[in-house]
Amino acid sequence: MNMIVRDILSRCCITLALAAGVNAFAQQAPMYDLLLHGGHVLDDKNHIDSVMDVAIKDGKIARVAAHIPSSEALKTVEVKGLYVTPGLIDIHVHVYAGTGERNSYAGDNSVPPDGFTFRVGVTAVVDAGCSGWRNFEDFKNRIIDRSKTRVFAMLNIVGAGMRGGKYEQNTADMDGEATAAMALKYPQTIVGIKTAHFEGPEWTPVEQAVIAGTKANIPVMVDFGVDHPATRPLYDLLTKKLRPGDIYTHMYSGLRHEQDPTTLGPSKAFIEGRKRGIYFDVGQGGGSFKWSLAVPMIKAGFIPGSISTDLHIGSMNGAMKDELNVADKIMAVNVPLKEVVAEMTSHPAHEIRHEELGNLSEGSIADVAVLRLENGNFGFTDMVNKRLDGKQKLICELTIKDGKVVYDLNGISADLWTAPPGPHAAEASRWTTFAPHTPEAQH
Ligand SMILES: [Zn+2]
Repeated sequence: MNMIVRDILSRCCITLALAAGVNAFAQQAPMYDLLLHGGHVLDDKNHIDSVMDVAIKDGKIARVAAHIPSSEALKTVEVKGLYVTPGLIDIHVHVYAGTGERNSYAGDNSVPPDGFTFRVGVTAVVDAGCSGWRNFEDFKNRIIDRSKTRVFAMLNIVGAGMRGGKYEQNTADMDGEATAAMALKYPQTIVGIKTAHFEGPEWTPVEQAVIAGTKANIPVMVDFGVDHPATRPLYDLLTKKLRPGDIYTHMYSGLRHEQDPTTLGPSKAFIEGRKRGIYFDVGQGGGSFKWSLAVPMIKAGFIPGSISTDLHIGSMNGAMKDELNVADKIMAVNVPLKEVVAEMTSHPAHEIRHEELGNLSEGSIADVAVLRLENGNFGFTDMVNKRLDGKQKLICELTIKDGKVVYDLNGISADLWTAPPGPHAAEASRWTTFAPHTPEAQH
C-alpha cells in the first residue's frame, strides 16, 4: 500500500474511533512487535540512505517510514546515531565443524557458525564447499539444522568434500551429475557449487562444477587452486569456462594473475570477466588478501561484488578476524560505507539467488544489523602481515534475526534493572530471544 494512502487511512480510523466516542484505541494492542527508532537506514535494494524508522511484525519487515510512533510497537529500541542495515550475508565461510576429523574442513578446520556471526551483524552464511554430495546430509544434520544462524551451503564438486589432498585431488570423485542430484534434493539450502584447492593442470573440477551448476541452476564459486597459466589460464576461466553469475572468490590474493603486472590494476581476465557478468568476491581467509593488490585494484575501480570472510580456524584470529573487519579494510581504501554495506547485503543475496534476504522491503524476512561507525586510529592487516591504517571501524550493536533480537552488545534493547516492567513485558518473546524466563522455566 502506498504510504500516503495508509497514513490517511490510519488517520481516518482514529477519527472514526474518536467520533464514535470509543476509547478502544488506547486499549488496542500495538500493531508492531518491534520498532527501531531514529537510525540511519542503508538499504541498497530499495535505494534508502536516510534516517528512517523500521517496524517489525511476526518476523517480517512491516514498515519503513520517516516517522512511526512508539505507541504502535510493543517495544521501541532507540538507534539514533547508528546505521540500520539488512542482516549481513557472508557467502564464504567454513562451518562443517564437529566431525572430529583432523586437518579437514569437514572437521577441525571449520568453526561453529553461531560463535562468529550475530556478534558482527551476520545473519546468514554460505558454507563454501566443506561438504560434497556424499557428506552434505551429515553436515545438514550436524550443523545446518541446529544453528541459529541461517546456514546455506555450496556443495564441493569433490563428492567427499574439503577433506585434504588425497580427496580434493581425486578427479574420479568429481561427479557433476551426482552433485547436481543432491543440490536438487535441497534447493532451499544448497545455493551453489564450489571448486577449490585443485593442484592439477586439468579443467576437470571446473568443468564438472559447471555441469552441476547448470543442471541444478545455481552458481559455481571458484577458488582457482594452484596456478597453471599454460594449461588453464585465468583468462579462459573467466571468459570461456564460467557462466555469467558464477563467482570468483579470493579476488585480491594475487596467486593466479588477478593483477595486471604493468598497471597494478585488474588483469585483462578480471576486466573481461566482470564485463561478462562474473561476480568477484573477497574471501580474505588465511592467505587470500594482499594490500599490494587490493589498494591499486580498488583505486582503479575494481571494488568487490561481495565481501566475504573465508572464516575458518586459520583466519578467525589472523588478519581476517571477522566480516566487519574485512568491510573496514574495503572502507579504508575509500569505498563509501553505503557501498560496503551493499556488498554485504543486497549483492550477496542476489549472487546466491535468495532475494528475500539482504533488504528491508516490507514483507521481507526481518534480519537486521544495527552498526556503529567508530572514528579513531585503526590498523588492518593482510596475508603477508602488512598493515594499512584507517580512521573508521564498524562495530555491531544489535542483531535481529527473524524479527527477534539475537545479539545486543550494550543492552540497548533491555530495560534498566531498576526500572519497573514495561506495559508489554509479558509479550517480550515477540521481539527478543532474551525474554525473561518464567519461574517454572528457570534453571
Ligand atoms: Zn574457503
